[in-house]
Formats: sequence, structure tokens, C-alpha cells
Amino acid sequence: MAANTNLFTDKETTNWVKASIALNVAKQGLTNFLDTQLQNVHAVVGRSCRNCPIEKLIPCPTNPYCNRKKLNYCPFHKSQKPQLCPACDHVKQNIILQHRNNGPSWRNTRAENWAQDYWEIGKCFLPPDGYSSVCSVQESYFNGVISIMLNCLHFQTCLSSSCLSPSPPDKKCPLEKIIQFKKSRV
Ligand SMILES: [Zn+2]
Ligand SMILES: [Zn+2]
Repeated sequence: MAANTNLFTDKETTNWVKASIALNVAKQGLTNFLDTQLQNVHAVVGRSCRNCPIEKLIPCPTNPYCNRKKLNYCPFHKSQKPQLCPACDHVKQNIILQHRNNGPSWRNTRAENWAQDYWEIGKCFLPPDGYSSVCSVQESYFNGVISIMLNCLHFQTCLSSSCLSPSPPDKKCPLEKIIQFKKSRV
């Protein structure tokens, strides 16, 4: 940001600061609710064997994990080969069924910890990358919290449908302009 921007008088800047504070307050307000509901999700997906890493549970090749274009081996399955495990596969299928788009974010999760840590199940409903080192609901930002609530079908049972079907983004919103700009460069 330009050095001569005044944080307290520039209208656009103060709006950003207010939005940031509002997102933080909203996230704190939702934290306990999300934490409790993830424990409920954890209770119904079943018990894994505690030994299988996620690489063992994903067949090869699976998009977008196994990108072999330039390599003669799969970087995702480099250290662990796919192997059938009925207990973990049962949990995996239940997570897929709970996901709104049938596309859990496997790269975020540590399947070895599914049995003892409900947050590892919750991480499957986060955006696809960048959350593997986030250790709890408390540590994640608003974007993570809202992603879980929108992506996990369990939340249909505790929130009104209008909360779960947000209106389309406003094209004039500065944040939406940045999102569209980033998408156009991928
Ligand atoms: Zn297993
Ligand atoms: Zn692979």
C-alpha cells in the first residue's frame, strides 16, 4: 500500500479496516458453534485405522493430486502407494458424501489422525490448499470457518437455507475484483 495512505482518513482504507475487524468478530462468534458441530460430524463418519496416510487412500492417478506431466513418477504417491483399507475407505466415503461438491480437500488433511482429531475431518471442507498446517478452528481465519460451513452438508441441519445459498457476488465489490483478477491469471 502507498506510504502516503492515511489509515484513518482515506475512505477506502477505513472500509477495509472495518471489514477486517468485522470478519474477525464474526469468526470469533462462530468458533464455538463450528467446533461443536465438527465434533458431531466426526462422530458419524466412522473410525479409521489410524495408520493410513491420505496418499494410501487416494488411487493413482487422481486429479488434481497426481500430476505426472513432466515426471516419470507421481509426486503425490512418491512415498506411499495406494492400498485398500476398508476402515479408512469407509470414513473417506462418508466425508465425500458430506461434501457439497463431492470434492474434499485431501491435501489439507492427515488421515492418520482422523480417529482422534475432529479438526482433521473439518480440514477436508476447507479450500483446497494452504490449510495443512492450521491446527484448529481457533487458528483459522473467517474464510476457513465459512468454507467449512458452506461445504459440509451437515450444516444444512443447523442453519437456514438462506445462509447457505449466499447471493451472487457483486461485481463492483473491490474484493470480488481482486478475486476475478487472480482467477484470470491462473
Ligand atoms: Zn487404514
Ligand atoms: Zn498418484
